[in-house]
Order: sequence, then C-alpha cells, then structure tokens
Amino acid sequence: MNYKKPFYQVPSVIYGNNIVERLIELLPQHTKSILIIYDKVLNINFEFLFKDYEVNIESFDATKNEPYTTDVDKLALKYEKYKIDVIIGVGGGSTMDVAKAVSVLIPVIDNYLSEDFQGWDLVNHDPIYKIGIPTIAGSGSEASRTAVLNNGEKKQGINSYASMFNGIILDNSLTKTVNSEVAFYSAMDCYIHSVESLEGNFINALSKEYALLGLKISESRYYKMEKDANMTLASYFGGVSIVNSEVGICHALSYGLSIEYGIRHGLANCLIFSHLEEFYGKHVVRFKEMLKLNKISLSQNICFDLNNDRIKRLIKTTYLMINPLINALGENYKSILTPEKIVDIYKKI
Ligand code: ZN
Repeated sequence: MNYKKPFYQVPSVIYGNNIVERLIELLPQHTKSILIIYDKVLNINFEFLFKDYEVNIESFDATKNEPYTTDVDKLALKYEKYKIDVIIGVGGGSTMDVAKAVSVLIPVIDNYLSEDFQGWDLVNHDPIYKIGIPTIAGSGSEASRTAVLNNGEKKQGINSYASMFNGIILDNSLTKTVNSEVAFYSAMDCYIHSVESLEGNFINALSKEYALLGLKISESRYYKMEKDANMTLASYFGGVSIVNSEVGICHALSYGLSIEYGIRHGLANCLIFSHLEEFYGKHVVRFKEMLKLNKISLSQNICFDLNNDRIKRLIKTTYLMINPLINALGENYKSILTPEKIVDIYKKI
C-alpha cells in the first residue's frame, strides 16, 4: 500500500543512559522561560537549568487518575501569563500527555478549552515547543500524535501533529525504579500498539518495520526474559508506528474500561486484549504466555455490574474510536464488531 501522508516522527531524539542534562541541546536559542510538568513519583534534578533559564515546575500526579480536560485547562490558564517558551513533559504516558495538551492549549486559552480539540485534526494553530522525557516505557506518548484526555463523558485524544513533541530524550536508566507490575502493563501497551499497527489496514512499509521492532523488543524483554532489552526504545518504535498507522480494536474497547471503572490505560488494554484472540490470533496467545512467564494474573469480574446505562455508554465510547476501528476492521466495522459482540467482550472481564 502506498502511504498517502508524509511519514511523521519527532524531529530530534537523544538516546542513551544518564543523559537528561543533554536536553539543553534540544532547547531553541530564544528560550527564556521553561515549564516542567513531571510525574509526582519522579525525582530528577533539573538544577542544571536554573542558572540560565526561568524554570517553573508543576507536578501532575498520574498515580491518582489519568488526566482530565479540566487539569489541562487549569494549567494552561495558570501559565498563559508566564510566556512559556518550552514545555518539558517528564513521566509516564499520562504526564507526557498533559504536557502535550497544555502546549496545544496555552496559545488559545482565551477562546478554547482542551475538550474543543478532542478528536482528529482539530488544531489549527502553532503549539508551544515541547520536549518529552519518558520515565515509564510503553505508552509511546513520546512519539505519538495524541494527548489522551477524559472530559468526564468521553476519553479521547487531541489527535493532531500539534500534539507531537519537538524533541525527546530516551534514557532507559530513568525507568529502572518503576514497579514491575506497572512496567509490565505499560510494556504490553507497546506490544499492543505494535500488534494493532501491524494487523491494521493503515500499515505501510515504514511503519511496519517500526512495529516489528516494538514487537521484537517487547518479546525479548517479557517472553525471552532478557532483562537488558531496551523497553524505552521499544516504546518509541511502537509509538512511531501508530503515528503513521493507527491503533485498533483493543484501544477502542479499553477506553470504556478506563472511563467507567477508572482502570489505567496499560492494564485496561491487557484486560481487553486477552479476549481478542478472534481478531489478533497468535499475538493474543503470545500475550497470555507473557502473562504466565511474568506471573501476572489479571483481575476478574470487573464488569459484573453491567446495567443498561453502562452498556449504552460502553458501546458509545467504543464507536467513538472511528479511525482505530476502520484501521482494524474496515468501513463496515459495525457489522463485525457489533454492539452484541462489544457487550460479550466486556462481560468476560
Ligand atoms: Zn496505548
């Protein structure tokens, strides 16, 4: 298939171990004022910036909940007057998504809220320059063109090239202190990105190679159990692949779990993916092997209280994910992933 759009990637990537200070190389020359948005659980010393720049630091505690549009609106309102030149997002996918969304919103906060941009290609202005530093590997947020937010009714990304970072630091040493279960769920997010990209209709020769790399490294780490496998790179490769293709059925279904039951993205994907053998065959078999090898047992009976209202909302949330569903199943996706089938899958969780 000839890919009609340009192939997008973050323009500047610095990778290695213990290299956070090299982020200076990514700062534009005119930089005066920096806003760092970091994960509450992280402890990186940014003192090396204080001498030359005006630095504001803001934490987003992603352990409490995934980001709401109101979190982004408040931050954008607060920092509008600071004339921020660069935003640095440090943390897992949720925290980086907050940084990305704030960079999109600050320039237009007088007229818009972040929920106005939830959807596909709704941003028509220049965002603030931004740098990403992942400290949990897997979400692919460092590479992706989305910033996923919950507005209370729907969980949907600001899917736009304006959401992409201008530069990223891929430092695998930053991920070493992450709780092993959290690391596993996040790594499986990367595995699932790679599978959904590979098995989708939007795949092209370039994104296929990135997806294969994401898949291979994830399996090296959690199937072959090679501790040195670099999941920070895997996360990036999986992310680049979905920027230039799309996610699929698992992501379409997992958003409902996150909204209705407050389940984090990585875990929500794992819960759904284990019931998608009909669509993703051997990859689901391999995923279950990885669960066993890593002694992860997924919670059960989460959706025991599926009443009519819940069912309606879950179906609605799934069908909001139009592009992922077209990628996975084609234009007639509703005749394959029927409302009945959606409910059947949730009932197993
Ligand atoms: Zn994901």
